[in-house]
Amino acid sequence: MGFGLYIHIPYCIQKCHYCDFTTFDLNHVVSMKQYSQLIMSELRSRAKAINNKNVTSIYFGGGTPSLLPAEDILAIRNEISAVGFNVAPDSEITIEINPGTVTPAKLDLYLESGVNRFSVGVQTFNDAYLKTCGREHSANTSRETLRFLEKNMLNYSFDLLFGLPNQTQAELLIDLNEMLTFSPQHVSLYNLTVPMHHKMNARRAPDEEQAEMFEIIEKHLTAAQIFRYELSNFARPGHESKHNQLYWSDAPYWGLGVSAHSYTPSVGRWGTRYWNPTSYKEYIKQVSADATLTDPFAFLPARQIEHLKMNEALTDYCHTQLRMMRGLTIDLFEKKFGSEARMLLMAKAEKLIQKGLLLNTASGFCLSPSALPIANQVFFEFTFLPEEIAFSTH
Ligand code: SF4
Repeated sequence: MGFGLYIHIPYCIQKCHYCDFTTFDLNHVVSMKQYSQLIMSELRSRAKAINNKNVTSIYFGGGTPSLLPAEDILAIRNEISAVGFNVAPDSEITIEINPGTVTPAKLDLYLESGVNRFSVGVQTFNDAYLKTCGREHSANTSRETLRFLEKNMLNYSFDLLFGLPNQTQAELLIDLNEMLTFSPQHVSLYNLTVPMHHKMNARRAPDEEQAEMFEIIEKHLTAAQIFRYELSNFARPGHESKHNQLYWSDAPYWGLGVSAHSYTPSVGRWGTRYWNPTSYKEYIKQVSADATLTDPFAFLPARQIEHLKMNEALTDYCHTQLRMMRGLTIDLFEKKFGSEARMLLMAKAEKLIQKGLLLNTASGFCLSPSALPIANQVFFEFTFLPEEIAFSTH
């Protein structure tokens, strides 16, 4: 089983209109220099309490991590080793970058830090839509960044946003065709998601047309040998994101930085989630806690810890595993939850197989092609209630 570190860098040049991540204007609250120091304090003060020392992936996410001085990325990477983590030579080290934020000098330091994967927030090549979204870069800036990555033969993932206000299928095709003039190894799809009364929810294509847009994208990517391996993620064979697959495989990860989330399946009967506060002040207070403590939860107030109950763990397990095209492996499920839970699982699965929403695989089952656009309906069937698991002592 892998183990990943997620490092949240919450700075952005400006707030995109559709974004609900925890981000801050540049240097608004704490300078980036101070923030890097806080991440390193968190590493030093909590590393002892993290049992797993073999890291298979590191992910610098945000925000816009490429705004942080690259020297700080290198310093954080070095601190990860200094506090006792073994980062395997074949680890995946990703940094999210926005177009126009990476220079040759920065790239050298990223490579020195071991970064071997770049996740690029292109979104669209349509300048008018970039403006609608409040993105700070232009389509030409994106083109320059992609050419720069390709010139340096770097492994990168392309973020494509669709379902924008007024966007037509013809316009989406223009984006797709241009994306495929480049050679991304990985593509993450984002169907615009904003609250019901958000101004960007007006004049969007109806749901059926957005579903068609997804089908168009999938068809083009498959033809380009970029295959769907998760509900919203596509990759050339061998370039599936190691780090993101941890989230869908019941694997542990430790999130550092303001608002970052962590999960460990080995603490508590059914696994434990814990997270950092979204408030800077509170975060600073918590990471400055006594470095001699060896209990990771001693640093956190109870409201930032959730020991999962069995029905919650079953639900999370099924929802995340079924996001992947390879689906759920029944023996692994039984190993974690036992034979009675397996019977309950199979009773639910059989009904959905009959309805054509699940397909049998060699080791279990996965969503059928007709279930992919309505995955949430299938997930609903795999939402376990406490009374369904009366056989357990929870
Ligand atoms: S760049 Fe990304 S994280 Fe920053 S505001 Fe825009 S969508 Fe949100």
